[in-house]
Amino acid sequence: MIDGKVLEYSNELKRLGINHEILEHPELVSVEDVQKYLGFGLDEALATLIMKTEKGFVALIKRGDSSLESKKVKKALGIESLRMATDEEFKKLTGVVPGAAHILHKVERTLIDERVFEKTKINGGSGSLLYTFRYEVQDLKKIPNSQVADITKISITTTSTSIGVKRVFSGIRATGRLHLGNYLGAVKGFLELEKTGEYETIYCVVDVHSITTPYDKNVLAKNKREIIIDYLAAGLDPKKSIIIYQSSVPEHIELAFYFSTVVNVARMLHLPTYKDKIKQHPHFVTMALLNYPVLMAADILIYKASLVPVGIDQEPHLEVTREIARKMNQIYGTDFPEPVRFATKGEYIPSLTGEGKMSKTVAGSFINLTDSLEEIRKKIRSVPTATTAGGEMSSGVKTLFTFAELFISKEVDKYKKAFEDGSLKFVELKDAIADAIYQELKPFQERRAKIAADTKYVDEVIRDGAERARKIARETVKEVKEKMGLT
Ligand code: ATP
Ligand code: MG
Repeated sequence: MIDGKVLEYSNELKRLGINHEILEHPELVSVEDVQKYLGFGLDEALATLIMKTEKGFVALIKRGDSSLESKKVKKALGIESLRMATDEEFKKLTGVVPGAAHILHKVERTLIDERVFEKTKINGGSGSLLYTFRYEVQDLKKIPNSQVADITKISITTTSTSIGVKRVFSGIRATGRLHLGNYLGAVKGFLELEKTGEYETIYCVVDVHSITTPYDKNVLAKNKREIIIDYLAAGLDPKKSIIIYQSSVPEHIELAFYFSTVVNVARMLHLPTYKDKIKQHPHFVTMALLNYPVLMAADILIYKASLVPVGIDQEPHLEVTREIARKMNQIYGTDFPEPVRFATKGEYIPSLTGEGKMSKTVAGSFINLTDSLEEIRKKIRSVPTATTAGGEMSSGVKTLFTFAELFISKEVDKYKKAFEDGSLKFVELKDAIADAIYQELKPFQERRAKIAADTKYVDEVIRDGAERARKIARETVKEVKEKMGLT
């Protein structure tokens, strides 16, 4: 039986059109404990803070993995004084115990941090310590008197376990030139985390993963170097981040074999990524492909990284990584963290064909970071759209609007209206998107040309990265061998 007050709150949300599920759990106070019990990370938790300003009380809603920046809050609200409500003020205003705040309050204004909208669903308080609500994130905009604003910074507490150094790891396959999906879903996250200065960041070109699907050895050698150049041109700083080829640190492969002893074969056979790849390459169903997620777990855990900036397609692999970490810790007493994904706004960039995601290995699906304005125009114009606007959006039209949200966000409403009233000329929308994409890529392309010409510099980055990474990797492998009884 659900508590009457919780039901009342749920009905109020329904009246406002805020969709939600009700999750039950034992009486737990800390957000970490609730999320752990329910099987989510802190990045999928909402915290509502009640604060007092000179204009009265405000509610601030943010993710559990970010910390409030009072300067930003003051700016967003146009106020000068800001403090947490006292326990008494909190109880009087919300009517609930501290720790159980929900999202609807009688306050002057509710500010919702923009990072919340990087998620599709998120867990938050219900007014009771026994229930957590899982909200549809887009619906949070329906909270009365609310506004979306940038009010936080990423906090180092995103990590799920406490280890000495906070590390970040991510990698990209050398299966082709980088595209917009790789950039928005992964590389932008790399840059954001490097910039915080709070982590040791390790970014890899996962060349060994590239040989799990059909490849040409000469093209691979060229592609892998091109991605290092892309990383540098995107703004990664080799003084701050360790930039490596996976094959330069062979310990990844050694650790993957040790990990494979705790992995169930049936679990691997049922992963969606494996199923997709065997559909794509039905004559290349190999042990290496099946082993992909185990090697990925080794890539991450060899550095004991707890935060992984990757697109949403990688979530099933991260789940496997967490399972491996848990099993290794349980069986052999290792101290691997259970890594969580660091999501960006562009965590899923659709294919230009209107079907599936943009991928390096799916022809006609992508825009490369090095494409010229003409090429981008041509590709965006190729997105299938109905000849007339209006009615239900086809998947191609949805794709266009995803790009519009990301690149010409200020004009989206105008184009949506035109779509609805049937006056939209798709070619105008397409060209506006293409121009904006090119503008975003132009500085990258200019930097890239300079870096590519500096062969010595690129060689040095690769050499130095391998040396720094191997030091860490050797330590982990040594520890695992000892704990598994191999030395
Ligand atoms: P492949 O076709 O070889 O698998 P890919 O385009 O899927 O290539 P990966 O090398 O597998 O690229 O992935 C590199 C990173 O880019 C990962 O973090 C992945 O999640 C991210 N990524 C790939 N495609 C997209 C996309 N369409 N939208 C957002 N992120 C993406
Ligand atoms: Mg992929």
